[in-house]
Amino acid sequence: MGVKPTSLTIRAYGVGFGDCFLLTFHYDGQTGDRHMLIDCGTTQRPPNARGNLLDAVVKDIAAVVGQQLHVLVATHRHADHINGFATRPDGKGPGDRIAALNPALVIQPWTEKLDAPKDWKGPATGALHDGILTTSLESMRRVVEASLDEADSLPASLRDEVQFVGDDGLSNSSAVRNLARMGKKGRAAYVRFGSRVPTAKLLPGVRISVLGPPTVRQKADLAKQKSTNREEYWHFHSFWQLRSDTARLTRGGTDLFPGAATYRPGDYPPESRWFIGRVNRVRGNQLLRLVRAMDDALNNTSVILLIHAGDKRLLFPGDAKWESWEYALGKAGAALKKVDVYKVGHHGSLNATPKSLWKLFAKRSELATDQRLWTLLSTRSNSKHGHPARQTEVPRDTLLTALRESTLLRSTQELEPSGDLVMKVELRLAP
Ligand SMILES: [Zn+2]
Repeated sequence: MGVKPTSLTIRAYGVGFGDCFLLTFHYDGQTGDRHMLIDCGTTQRPPNARGNLLDAVVKDIAAVVGQQLHVLVATHRHADHINGFATRPDGKGPGDRIAALNPALVIQPWTEKLDAPKDWKGPATGALHDGILTTSLESMRRVVEASLDEADSLPASLRDEVQFVGDDGLSNSSAVRNLARMGKKGRAAYVRFGSRVPTAKLLPGVRISVLGPPTVRQKADLAKQKSTNREEYWHFHSFWQLRSDTARLTRGGTDLFPGAATYRPGDYPPESRWFIGRVNRVRGNQLLRLVRAMDDALNNTSVILLIHAGDKRLLFPGDAKWESWEYALGKAGAALKKVDVYKVGHHGSLNATPKSLWKLFAKRSELATDQRLWTLLSTRSNSKHGHPARQTEVPRDTLLTALRESTLLRSTQELEPSGDLVMKVELRLAP
């Protein structure tokens, strides 16, 4: 009774574009160290990274953790948060090493409950539509897959962007399965706003509030977002129709434009070449909008955790965007005021740290006081997300400036010149 951690070490791994944080709570006496891993993934390694980055990261985690990882959190299923949990057939993948640490509790968003029946009514306070949303997420994954197939025929710059954004939502099946397996072996918690997570024995004296994602009933906008995507999905259906028509045409059929001449790629009449480029660009921009919409929807399934340890409160929101924040802010605004450490949402993008959240943080200060808000940013310089010209670059310059001016900012960008693997933040925890 009454055992409490006395200090906390946060390790932010230099994964480039991605997140990987290891929290180690230190206790006096026999409790020893307790470890909590929040995400592990990357989609764009840092400039001077050496060797196999994720292998190195996970080896370092294993060396710190030793026998047992007490809590593992996978905030959402994007590759830049979970591809470090992927296994390999030879059993030496990063995810194999994590599984060997026997995570006692695996926390994921409720949308990841893979074996939920299709008409699942959601977790305890669940809603009629939750099952439908999980099914939609799966359909969305398939649409992204199809978009990536289609991207090959786009102009290079658009192709790269579609592939970069799209890849994030894919190629995680090994990691997804491994997370489900680890949850079954230990204990799994598929959480929503307000869920209680059973951490009392694993992390004595640490309390965790789950502030997201909301269920569909909790936040009707999530359903609205879903219907937006459904709208996109319909665009996509017509797009597919067009594609199969094109396929028929290239096979020599002429049913779309009977009697029209057909040309092989590269053999188009000179007077039409300008048009082909434009059509491809339009189609590319549509595909990009589509994969971005999918990307945002998945970000909004992020688990948002507010961790209370000693006199400190730490906020780890994954990549949650506005639709999810709005609910958390409405329901838990008072608790969010007192945050001491904020893991900056979505690698510092312009739309994951809502201004109303930012203004709430009472410990923002331009003066370097003891109480000053810490901010932890996991990101990469020159990331492939967004463009400075459109003021959508990640991390967003204006946000970085605000973080530098009124918080104690630690960014994994600091690791870029040296190519070092990890940076540490040490916090004393007063009772
Ligand atoms: Zn991310």
